[in-house]
Amino acid sequence: MGSYDVVVAGGGHNGLVAAAYLAGAGRRVLVLERYAHAGGLAVSARAFPGVDVRLSRYSYLVSLLPTRIVRDLGLDLELRRRRYASYTPMGDTGLLVDNEDDLRTAASFRNVTGGEADHEAWRRFYGMTAEVARALAPTLLEPLRPQAEIERLVGQEAWRDLFARPIGETVDERFRDDTVRGVVLTDALIGTFADPATDLLANRCFLYHVIGDGTGDWNVPVGGMGAVSGALEAAARRAGAEIRTGAEIVGISPSGEVTFVADDGEHTVSGGHVLVNLPPAVLDRVMGRPVTVPEGAQLKVNMVLTRLPRLKDTTVDPRAAFSGTFHINEGREQLAGAYEQAARGEMPELPPAEVYCHSLTDASILGPELRGRAETMTLFGLHMPARLFRKNPDKARKVALDATFASMNAVLAEPIEDCLLTAPDGTPCVEVKTPVDLERDAGLPGGHIFHTDLSWPYAEGGGWGVETEHERILMCGAGARRGGGVSGIGGHNAAMALLR
Ligand SMILES: Cc1cc2nc3c(=O)[nH]c(=O)nc-3n(C[C@H](O)[C@H](O)[C@H](O)COP(=O)(O)OP(=O)(O)OC[C@H]3O[C@@H](n4cnc5c(N)ncnc54)[C@H](O)[C@@H]3O)c2cc1C
Repeated sequence: MGSYDVVVAGGGHNGLVAAAYLAGAGRRVLVLERYAHAGGLAVSARAFPGVDVRLSRYSYLVSLLPTRIVRDLGLDLELRRRRYASYTPMGDTGLLVDNEDDLRTAASFRNVTGGEADHEAWRRFYGMTAEVARALAPTLLEPLRPQAEIERLVGQEAWRDLFARPIGETVDERFRDDTVRGVVLTDALIGTFADPATDLLANRCFLYHVIGDGTGDWNVPVGGMGAVSGALEAAARRAGAEIRTGAEIVGISPSGEVTFVADDGEHTVSGGHVLVNLPPAVLDRVMGRPVTVPEGAQLKVNMVLTRLPRLKDTTVDPRAAFSGTFHINEGREQLAGAYEQAARGEMPELPPAEVYCHSLTDASILGPELRGRAETMTLFGLHMPARLFRKNPDKARKVALDATFASMNAVLAEPIEDCLLTAPDGTPCVEVKTPVDLERDAGLPGGHIFHTDLSWPYAEGGGWGVETEHERILMCGAGARRGGGVSGIGGHNAAMALLR
């Protein structure tokens, strides 16, 4: 039986971060990954046969990865800022938020809301979240602080509006316009099935969407998500970590023995510590404990287009509208209606969703023959819980896609279907992943994109938020406190828990 200082169970981006730090500090590290490649949910793929486009198959934008980790590990990585934050079509017009032109943004607010109030409220609100980001982000790479300290750190107003009362209440009080309210609230609902009017889970989701790396910016990884994992894998290998792919972990013991199955049979290795990058439900399963499966609630659609669709709003260039987040039927009331329907077990009639075009900011993911002749489009649909797809996954996937395309087409000047590239085999370039597909294809229990519900970035009693009931077993992935999203924070914090 081989023995290591640390066995990292799962080769997602967090496992790679942990491995890079620990091997860099001289520990003997083995990473075990069940698929043929590392990276987990942070990967690029050629999803359509014969179409030379490397799509970020699951996660697609980076905000939460701290610059400190990038520097510490010497990552060869470019994260490109987008000029436009978002565009929200409203009939023949729309709300454009331009990061570099405040006057234009103000005019757009005036045009769609009929006054100055919501733009002023927007500036005040995001001024507040920016301050919270600056204060809170550095703490994510430190041992956990108690609630009272975080409360002092962010100040009374932010504590009340972002932490203590439901974010829906805050948004209703601060903004008047239903569309503006919805634009703000989508950050509270990405990958999170919750009612923002009552459920503080939505606050937690919101918080992680606005504090990333002290700015809350969502940047485009040049080369796609595979470039992020690729840089991390290279760093881990450079530091001396051993990475074994095609190794499915079937058992972890409290004493640090890890059993896995590979092509050449079953093996057991022992680790002084085991750092667990697996979702908590998978850890429970391989430790022989009762398993509670969480529930994911999103639809991911990857597309390649021959051109961007035309907008009803002829004053905005589609290249501006689609390079930021393009909101589709995500008004406050529309979100609430879709949530109610989905909670009853019905497919939302008008699914709320958002799309963005990676290739507008970074064309390097297109093969040379497609550059200038194709664009990518990523759709992330909200309020599509796994329960809708359990009984008849294939039928429900088709119903969900049809409803989502109808929702999108309702705000476009032409059907999205007319813009899809056709692959050499004659099929349109559309790949759909429901939560049940994610469970099957990416090993995500319940299709929950954060492995488990996001947690507050504080706790009484200190620690790194990675500890488990067993001293030798630490969480190092999205399932750690403060771990969700492409951040490396779970991996960093597990490594620090061992090194400090
Ligand atoms: C559709 C989708 C879109 C998303 N979009 C974004 C986004 O744009 N930005 C963002 O920040 N976050 C996004 N997320 C969330 C983000 O991708 C995840 O929270 C993050 O990548 C998790 O990283 P991780 O390393 O902790 O876990 P994972 O990436 O899940 O890695 C876990 C690893 O463990 C391996 N594994 C599992 N079981 C076993 C086993 N038994 N034996 C061996 N190995 C095993 C898996 O194969 C995997 O490689 C998205 C997620 C999804 C699904």
